[in-house]
Amino acid sequence: MLVTIKIPTVLRRFTGDQASVVVEGGDVHEALRDLASRFPELKTHLFDEGALRPFVNVFLNEDNVRDLDEEHGRLKEGDELSIIPAVAGGASDTRILTARELSAEEMSRYNRHIIMPEVGVAGQKKLKAASVLLIGAGGLGSPLAVYLAAAGVGRIGLVDFDTVDFSNLQRQIIHFTSDVGRPKLDSAREKIQAINPHVTVETHYTRLTSENALEILAGYDIVIDGTDNFATRYLVNDACVLLGKPNVYGSIFRFEGQVSVFDAGHGPCYRCLYPEPPPPGMVPSCAEGGVLGILPGTVGALQATEAIKLILGAGKSLRGRLLLFDALAMQFREVRIRKDPACPLCGENPSIRGLIDYDEFCGIGAPEEEGSLVPEISPREVAENRDRLLLIDVREPHEVDIARIGGAVLIPVGGLAGRTQEIDREADVVVYCRSGKRSAKAVRHLLDIGFDRVRNLRGGILAWSDEVDPTVPKY
Ligand SMILES: [Zn+2]
Repeated sequence: MLVTIKIPTVLRRFTGDQASVVVEGGDVHEALRDLASRFPELKTHLFDEGALRPFVNVFLNEDNVRDLDEEHGRLKEGDELSIIPAVAGGASDTRILTARELSAEEMSRYNRHIIMPEVGVAGQKKLKAASVLLIGAGGLGSPLAVYLAAAGVGRIGLVDFDTVDFSNLQRQIIHFTSDVGRPKLDSAREKIQAINPHVTVETHYTRLTSENALEILAGYDIVIDGTDNFATRYLVNDACVLLGKPNVYGSIFRFEGQVSVFDAGHGPCYRCLYPEPPPPGMVPSCAEGGVLGILPGTVGALQATEAIKLILGAGKSLRGRLLLFDALAMQFREVRIRKDPACPLCGENPSIRGLIDYDEFCGIGAPEEEGSLVPEISPREVAENRDRLLLIDVREPHEVDIARIGGAVLIPVGGLAGRTQEIDREADVVVYCRSGKRSAKAVRHLLDIGFDRVRNLRGGILAWSDEVDPTVPKY
C-alpha cells in the first residue's frame, strides 16, 4: 500500500527538503519504518528504541495514531499521514550575522528572524524597506500594528479619525485605559514607537473617501483592510485594484473571522467574491452584534502573517483562498475563490474605471431617513408623561439584562409582527431600542398596520441614560 507522509518544516532538512514523501506499508508502523529506512537521519528524531518519541505525534488523516487500535491503524489507498512534532517556538541558534544595512542593534533585535533561512538578512532588509498601510487603528489595526512594528516593517501608515472609547479597550490592545478620549492615531503611534523605534509611523487623520483614497494608498506597497463597514471595504478594494496593490483582507463578527489576500493581478478581488454589499441593516455591525475580544487578535495576526509573507515572497499566499475561522468550534476552513471574468472591476470588460460614491453604493443613508420619517418623542417628554404612556422595548432579552427602563413591555423587533395583539390600540405607545434605529422600523410597521398613536423614543435607551437617568448603563 502506498501512502503519503507529510513532513513538517523542522524535519525537512532530513528529507532533502521534501514536504511530503510517498512510502509503503500495511499499517502506520510499517509506513514509518519505511520512511526511516529511506531517510536514516530521521530515525533518531522519530523513534527511541523502536517506539515513537513522546514529543512526536503522527496523525492518520485526522486521528492521532496513538488513539487508534490495531484494526484502525491499517492503511487504505489514499490515506495521508502527518508528522506533527512539538514546536517550542523561538529559536535556539543564537548566531549573529552581520549585514551593512542593518545596525548591530537591529541584527540583535531581529535575530530570531535572521537565523531562519526563509527570512535571513536579505528578508529582514526587505521588511525594513517595505511600507504597509493599515486602514483603521481599531480591533484588527491593533495586532497588525504591534506585530508589523515588532517584525521590523520599515514604514507603517495608519488611517483613522476616531478617538479611543472605553468600549474599545476590550479588544483594541494598542490602546490603554489612559488613552480614552485621545485620537487613536496618537495612541497607536506612541505604542508602535515604544515597541520599535526603527519604524517610521505615518498617520493619516481622516476618513478614507473616494477623494483621498488613491493618493493615500499610492504611497504604500501593501494595504491591509481593518475596516468595520462595507462602504470603506469596497472603497479599499476598488482603490487597490485600480492602483495594482495587494489588499490583505480580514473581517470579524462575534466568534467568526475571514481572511484572504485580494490581489487582482494574481487572483480575485473582493468584488469577485461579493459583487454587491448586503442591504443596509441586514448584517449587523460589531457595535450592534458584538465581537469576542480576542477574535481580532487571531484574525489580525493572520493578516499580519500574510503581509509579511508577501514582503518576503515566501510561502503560499491566501490569494484565491478564503480562510474561515470559527472560534467557538475552534475550526479553520478554507474555500477556493476564483477570479470572476465578469467582475465589473477586475474582469475582462470592467465597467468601474474610477472610484464611485460608496455610501450610495452600499445604500447608506436610507435607514436614517426611514427613522426620521416616523413620529418621535424626546426622552425628557417620556419621563414627564411616564404614567400615561405604554413603553414597548423591542430589543433582545440579553440587552434588557444590561439596561432597561422600568415598566416597559419586551417584544423583540423580530417577533413584533406576530405579537401586535398584545399592544393596546387605545394607548399612547412609545417604542424604544438601544439607539432608536430598530424601534423606528417597529414604529413604521405599527403605523402601517393601523396604530396611530405610536412614537419612537429619539436616541433610544442611550439617550435616556444621557438625558434622564444616568444610572442606566450605556452599552
Ligand atoms: Zn474582481
